[in-house]
Amino acid sequence: MSSAPAPTKPETAQPKRKRPEFRTALRLLWPLLRPRRRLLFGCLLLLLVGRGAGLMLPAAGKYLLDEVVGKGRRELLLPLVLGCGGAVAVQGLVAWSLVQLLSKSAQRLIADKRIELQRHVGRLAVAWYDKQKSGALVSRVMSDIEGIRNLVGTGMVELVGSSITALGAFGLLLWLSWRLTLSVLLLLVAFGALLLWAFKTIRPIYRERMKIQSEVSGRLAEGLAGVRVVKGFRAEARESEVFTAGALRIFENVRKTLTASAGLHLAASLLMGTAGVIVLYVGGSDILDGRMTSGDFLAYAMSLGLLAAPVVMLASLGTELTDAFAGLERVDELLKETPEDADPKRAQRLERVRGDVRFENVSFAYEDERWVLSELDLEAPAGTVTALVGPSGAGKSTLVALVAAFATPQRGRVTVDGVDLATVELGSWRAQLGVVLQDSFLFDGTIRENIAYGRPSATPEQIDDAARAAHVLEFASALPLGLDTIIGERGVKLSGGQRQRVAIARALAADPRVLILDEATSHLDTESESLIQEALRTLMRGRTTFVIAHRLSTIRGADQILVLEHGRVVERGRHEELLARSGRYAELHERQAGAWIGLSASSTSPPTSPACAP
Ligand code: ATP
Repeated sequence: MSSAPAPTKPETAQPKRKRPEFRTALRLLWPLLRPRRRLLFGCLLLLLVGRGAGLMLPAAGKYLLDEVVGKGRRELLLPLVLGCGGAVAVQGLVAWSLVQLLSKSAQRLIADKRIELQRHVGRLAVAWYDKQKSGALVSRVMSDIEGIRNLVGTGMVELVGSSITALGAFGLLLWLSWRLTLSVLLLLVAFGALLLWAFKTIRPIYRERMKIQSEVSGRLAEGLAGVRVVKGFRAEARESEVFTAGALRIFENVRKTLTASAGLHLAASLLMGTAGVIVLYVGGSDILDGRMTSGDFLAYAMSLGLLAAPVVMLASLGTELTDAFAGLERVDELLKETPEDADPKRAQRLERVRGDVRFENVSFAYEDERWVLSELDLEAPAGTVTALVGPSGAGKSTLVALVAAFATPQRGRVTVDGVDLATVELGSWRAQLGVVLQDSFLFDGTIRENIAYGRPSATPEQIDDAARAAHVLEFASALPLGLDTIIGERGVKLSGGQRQRVAIARALAADPRVLILDEATSHLDTESESLIQEALRTLMRGRTTFVIAHRLSTIRGADQILVLEHGRVVERGRHEELLARSGRYAELHERQAGAWIGLSASSTSPPTSPACAP
């Protein structure tokens, strides 16, 4: 069952760690490289042409000293210089083309991957989101993927190209003087070993960095979103402390990688420098002993430079690629999460439903066996209003979450028109569902866009109708831009009551068959309250409604009231019946007097109990 909260998976990464690092890297990389293999191969060829042109210079150096200068053949000087100029031009052109071809394709891939990741995350179950920090998720979708640039962009091609150039230069060195080459070979092997060791060490630190970064940005985003609470509790300094600790954790991590990569660079320079010194000594002796010409020596020294450049590049590329792999692994982890609609049982498409909702002996637990709802039976015929009341933590929100199929019960079933919700295609069900929550959660944009969020295909007339029916027009028409007024993040520029009305209009535009309503607890002024009640009445008309009720008027008008306690229905019936029974409901009614929003001026009948007066 995809939407039931999965028990925390045992961490399987540990035993895996040891050997298949390389295979994991290849498994992650191949799907990225495969569709681009022609481009990458072409670019590799280009790179080799460029690097081949680079070999012209040492060859020309040898030719210059031994043939042109040594034998006084001035006529060869100009062609030699022209040849070298051509080679330099080819190198430049190749470098330019590589950036054009590879970097652009890599950036495109980053965009595609981000889109894929965002889509995937959107398909994950609510239970999964409950365990995440949204800021951390943002960082995963936006930053972790950045490193791919190095894998499929210039980085990878440079890595392969540099390795090939290094091999070519090494061959050239052997050919020019095997004695000299063998004397520096040991240093090169030592350098290779050092590189491997360094990458292995640095990679986990990079992975850790991404984790820390996403935690820190997650916490930062929370603090920013909750700025009113932060300021209200004068917690700015505490927030700063939390952030400072996070920023310093990132710094510590970066410091470690910087130490490692600086050490690597130092080792590279030392090894290459030592190789240069050896070459000077052995080469100088060889020239003196007549085993080498000065042209050979010049060519050798230049080729050694050709070998050094890619080797040093391998060192810095290595850290970048390590970073990229770490990001790719994290992205892969996210992509492996099973989407809530991936369950093959969820195959049944619902056409427009009547809206008969039933709970049949439903038990549900967020965590193993800690039942939040127990053996719950409930029948909500199409078009009726079911009000849920009960103390905090009784399971009211959980019950409506099951109606929305945000979660699936472990026992029993929830059906709509007789079809088990565990077997329906989620999209086809949720398209018929409207949700109006306490925290109306509007998006930054215009009022019109927020209403149309319920049904993007709605015509301007339909939006206007919804806005009128939900009494949005009353306040919107007083604004200079009317429905086209921008309302700020989460609708901060509207009052609480106005936000609720926009949320109701949004649900009206969606025209759902089944409605989930979590009434706001806040007391509004009488006029606003009565407008909202009227809007809600319009919204509920003809739809099966589940309402977590805080308004006495809603509770009174409900076709049935369920009194929940500890996940069980302890009483059910209509308002008058329940009051007459003098049971839990009557008790709650008495006690909740202040909490239940009493009757507003527009309500038709006065409260039956003095305890319910506003
Ligand atoms: P309230 O009126 O305060 O909103 P409620 O009746 O809606 O309460 P629920 O939110 O359904 O109650 O919670 C019922 C129980 O389930 C509570 O004990 C709560 O701690 C637990 N619970 C709710 N959501 C989760 C979750 N995502 N993971 C684990 N436990 C949860």
